[in-house]
This record gives sequence, C-alpha cells and structure tokens, in this order.
Amino acid sequence: MQNALTLLSSVFGYPAFRGEQEAIVNHVAGGGHALVLMPTGGGKSLCYQIPALMRDGMALVVSPLIALMQDQVAALTELGVAAACLNSATSPDEARDIARRARAGTLDLLYVAPERLLTPRFLAFLDSVPLSLLAIDEAHCVSHWGHDFRPEYQQLGMLAERFPQVPRIALTATADQQTREDILHYLKLSDARVFLSSFDRPNLFYQVLEKHNAKKQVLAFIQNEHPGASGIVYCLSRKRVEDMAQWLVENGIRALPYHAGLGHDVRERNQRDFIREEGVVMVATLAFGMGIDKPDVRFVAHVDMPKSPENFYQESGRAGRDGLPATSWMCYGLNDVVQLSGMIQNSEMADLQKQVELGKLDAMLAFCETPGCRRQHILKFFGEDSAPCGHCDNCLHPPVLYDATLPVRKLLSCIYRVGQRFAASHVVDVLMGKMTPLMEGTRHHDLPTFGVGKEFNQRQWRSVIRQLVARKLVEVDLARGQSLVLTAGCRPLLKGEELIYLRPLAAEKTGARQGPAD
Ligand code: ADP
Ligand code: ZN
Repeated sequence: MQNALTLLSSVFGYPAFRGEQEAIVNHVAGGGHALVLMPTGGGKSLCYQIPALMRDGMALVVSPLIALMQDQVAALTELGVAAACLNSATSPDEARDIARRARAGTLDLLYVAPERLLTPRFLAFLDSVPLSLLAIDEAHCVSHWGHDFRPEYQQLGMLAERFPQVPRIALTATADQQTREDILHYLKLSDARVFLSSFDRPNLFYQVLEKHNAKKQVLAFIQNEHPGASGIVYCLSRKRVEDMAQWLVENGIRALPYHAGLGHDVRERNQRDFIREEGVVMVATLAFGMGIDKPDVRFVAHVDMPKSPENFYQESGRAGRDGLPATSWMCYGLNDVVQLSGMIQNSEMADLQKQVELGKLDAMLAFCETPGCRRQHILKFFGEDSAPCGHCDNCLHPPVLYDATLPVRKLLSCIYRVGQRFAASHVVDVLMGKMTPLMEGTRHHDLPTFGVGKEFNQRQWRSVIRQLVARKLVEVDLARGQSLVLTAGCRPLLKGEELIYLRPLAAEKTGARQGPAD
C-alpha cells in the first residue's frame, strides 16, 4: 500500500495534511468505517480520495449534486487520477467504457448520484467490481432535520449489508446532534469512528445589523470594508436579487445577478465571471453557492435573514476559504422573521416539519439578537463549547444592556389595549402618539397608552419588539394580519414582578473591524 503522505505530495501537490485528515485517511485506508464532520473548505474530499488511491479496487462516491461531481472528476483527471462519474448526462457509450474500466480495475474513483446507485442494474454491476471503499458525501441528506433532506439517502444503509467488508466513510459539513444520530442510524455506521473537526472559522469576522435601508447599508459596507473585492450578497427573492444587483451596478460595483429564474446561459456566464475574475460581487438567491469553491471570496452579505443557523453558517462559510480575513455581514428586521415564518406556514410541509423549521427560525433570530459573542453562539449550535472570540462585532463593541422594564411594560400594555389585533407598525404609532387614518378609525388615540412612548423613535421601538419576539414574550400572529400577541411569559413583567434588560439600538459603525483581528 502506498504511503498517504507520499500520495498527498506526489498526486495533489500538498506538503502536509490538515487537521484530522491524516488520522481519517489512515483509519479508512486500514479498513475502518468513519463519520467525518468537517466544515466546508476543511478538506473532506482528500479524506476518501487518498484512501481510494491507497487501497486496491474502485472507490464509489455517492454525491447528490451533478455539478459537484463533474467538478471533482475534472480536477482529479487533471491530476492524473483515474476518475469518472455516472449521471443522467452520461451517454450509453461512455457508461459502457466506465463499466469496462471498473471491472478491469483501472478506475480509482467513480462518482454516482444516489438514485442511480439504488437501481437494481447498477447494484448488479457493483457486484462485479472490486470495491476499495464507499464514500457518502453530504451525508446530512439522510436526515429530516438537515437542510437538504433526500429520501433516497435513507436507503443507502443497504450498502452495509450488501458490502460488509468494504469500509464506509460518510462526510458532511453540517450536522447538529440530531442529524448526526440520524446519519449513524440510517447509514448503519454504529461502529464507525466519528471524526469531529472544529467548526470555528477564525478568519471570519461576524457582523450583524438591524435593517433600515438594506441597499444603502450593504453598499456602505462594501465601499468601506471591501472595496474591489469578490463577494456574495444573498437575498431572499429573485426580485430583490435583480433590484440589488442593479443598485450596486449603478453605484460603481461590478455586481452580477444569479437566481433560478435566469436562463441557463446567463447563470453559467455570471458564475464563470465570478469565479475567474477578481472583484465581482454575485447577488444571488440561495440557488447559488453549492459547490462553489472560490478561495478568495472576501465577504458574504445577507440582506435578508437566513432561515436557520445552519443555512447562515453554510452560506457565510463561503467567505475566506483561503484562510485570510473575511467578513460575514448581515442586516435583518422583524419583517424578515414575519416573511420567513409565513413561507414556512404556507408551505406544503408536514406539520412536524413546519415545527422543526419554525424552531430553527427562532434559533436564527436568537443569534441575531444575542448581546453575546456571535462565534460562541453559532458554535454552540453545532454542539461546540468555546470562549468569547474577541473579534466579532459584539466582542469588540459589547452592547451595554439597559433596564428596559418601563418601556417594555408600556409596549406590552399597549399591545393588550389594542386587543392584540394590530401589527407592530400600528402599535408603535399608538405608543408614539402619531395620528394616522387607522388611528381615527380605531379611536386608539383615546387609549391611555396613546403617546406614552415618546422616549423612543420608531427604530428603537422595533428593536424592542424584535427582542421580545426573540425571547418569546411576544408573538406575531400571521393568521391575523401579523398582529402582535402577548404570551404567558410576559405576565410577571406586566405585574411588575420582573425586570428586563435589553440591547440598545446599535449605532451604525462601519469601522467595526478595527480591533485585535487586524
Ligand atoms: P470540503 O469538501 O471540506 O469543503 P475540499 O475537499 O473541497 O473541502 O477542500 C477545500 C480546499 O482545500 C480545496 O481547494 C483543497 O484542494 C484544499 N485542501 C484540502 N486539503 C489540503 C491540504 N492538506 N493542504 C492544502 N490544501 C488542501
Ligand atoms: Zn465574539
């Protein structure tokens, strides 16, 4: 058997393994099963590619994305490794040639989509091929809890019974505890060794702002912190992608749109320009990014709140893969929460799944509203304990909490007085004593709470409301026009038995990066 380190340098041209790679390679090359949890960009591919070269026979790699497979195979072929992939785009002639090479033992790696693998025909073919190992990439797809559930993945457990002698390695970049258990269970990996790498991305600087004018805010961020750099701006809808891209272009930034509504050719061209050229800002929906391996992306900006901490981590993780300083920037508002929960509630998902998704949305809002260390908060989500990082926005400029008991009590009683039947904007108008047509119609200007909240401006009141929603003291009732509703949790506050401390509205600082990180 060839030596792992020799292969690493002679085939891949790297002088040393990173992190857990060496231990994983040796374990799998020695015939052991493994579950590998490693953040995106950590170097998962080598964990099965090198054992595939060390062991006799062909390695089968299951991957859900055709584009990803093709990229990997192209890169391996370039390096002189005998690799191929089978997918819907493979012609019968090519498929025959691949089968011939596989049986002759001259193919080192074969990539295949799970649907294809599970066909009786393909399984029969596999019986005739000497296998070196089975690698299951993006293994979180087996779990309902994951962000990308694929039912076929759950059937991959049968590989354990069909090929008991062949080492199996499952890999993923996102797996909370529940997902991890699902992977071990469905892929029958109970005797696998689990390799857990830290999910910390020390070179990423986290910054979260409240949204008041997303276009201006993101423009100022790019101009002040990353002028001329490559970056990604994520938006929730196609329309917002178009608007945002146009706005950035009008302001002298080389921005390109990317969403599923654009023609195939346009998408390909924009993606290619983004990857090849420097200083292109891709404005995209979530359709963009899977499998994009561009090392020098200097920032990822979310102008709408992501739907879960996993999504946030995954998307922002596309910045700074080269290890140099990069920024994960986000602005968010109460409307994002309302819109996302509406999307979940109106979706076709089963009720249980909706509860899971709403729970993740809550966790996302909690991340946005935390006065504590952002990195510590996000790592905790992946089950990792850490100390405050010292170089996120909150660590550099710790918010000084203030006693908000009195204003909160005013807000809660105002919500109560308007019958828990009005949205945030009207409740704030009542507090601030603003005469509007709705006020005249409802006669809410006759309420004792009318105009009692002049100490705050509109943005400050909205910040208070968001924090109360994040703490589950107030809920937004989507079925009734986004009305604010009190929960049982706010009773002690209303009765004056409890104090509450909140985060003040952050001043807009674009120079937040000055600090120990630089
Ligand atoms: P993942 O699949 O975990 O997102 P990849 O396997 O695509 O990560 O690796 C990310 C990048 O890191 C690739 O460009 C890869 O070539 C590079 N890489 C991986 N391992 C090493 C190493 N030991 N030394 C140098 N570069 C590495
Ligand atoms: Zn921090």
